[in-house]
Amino acid sequence: MGKFELLALPYDYNALEPTIDKMTMEIHHSKHHGGYVTKLNAAVEGTDLDGKSLEELLSNVSNHSTAVRNNGGGHFNHSLFWSIMKPGGAEVPSSLSDAINSAFTSFDEFKNQFSNAAVTRFGSGWAWLVVQDGKLAIGSTPNQDNPIMDVSDIKGTPILGLDVWEHAYYLKYQNRRPEYIENWWNVVNWEEVAKRYNDIK
Ligand code: MN
Repeated sequence: MGKFELLALPYDYNALEPTIDKMTMEIHHSKHHGGYVTKLNAAVEGTDLDGKSLEELLSNVSNHSTAVRNNGGGHFNHSLFWSIMKPGGAEVPSSLSDAINSAFTSFDEFKNQFSNAAVTRFGSGWAWLVVQDGKLAIGSTPNQDNPIMDVSDIKGTPILGLDVWEHAYYLKYQNRRPEYIENWWNVVNWEEVAKRYNDIK
């Protein structure tokens, strides 16, 4: 038995409809995320990595196997992703909106830059809002990489992440990734994003 676990979602599979449909959520969580957890446990079991935290594994992932990179990244990224969504979304707390306005000139400009990072990520990957040395920055990573990995082009602590793998949207949106991204803003749990931001400061 490995130590990493697939936690239940904090809402029902149909709770993010119509933005994200029930079948996509169910397959995405139970099969895709569940698969990453199973394979991550298999990759560390019986090795000297057994017992290390996920953050520890990912921060020097260049020393580890491709299986640890892909499945450890997948477990970290999806755990964050489920937590920063919520049925109906949430208001942006002023502590965070002030910081976003200051970093990107306006909230709309922030959304434009983040959406652009998500739309233009070639193939499968993620768009991120991170805190780097106390400052907010936007970027994207391929596959299941993320900004806490030593191999990542963009580094920092992610406070918002968007999955742009086709498995995240294809059943409902088919090839229309920009439409998925536009609708996704409706279910962002800004209270959780602000909490993550305030925890770093
Ligand atoms: Mn995914």
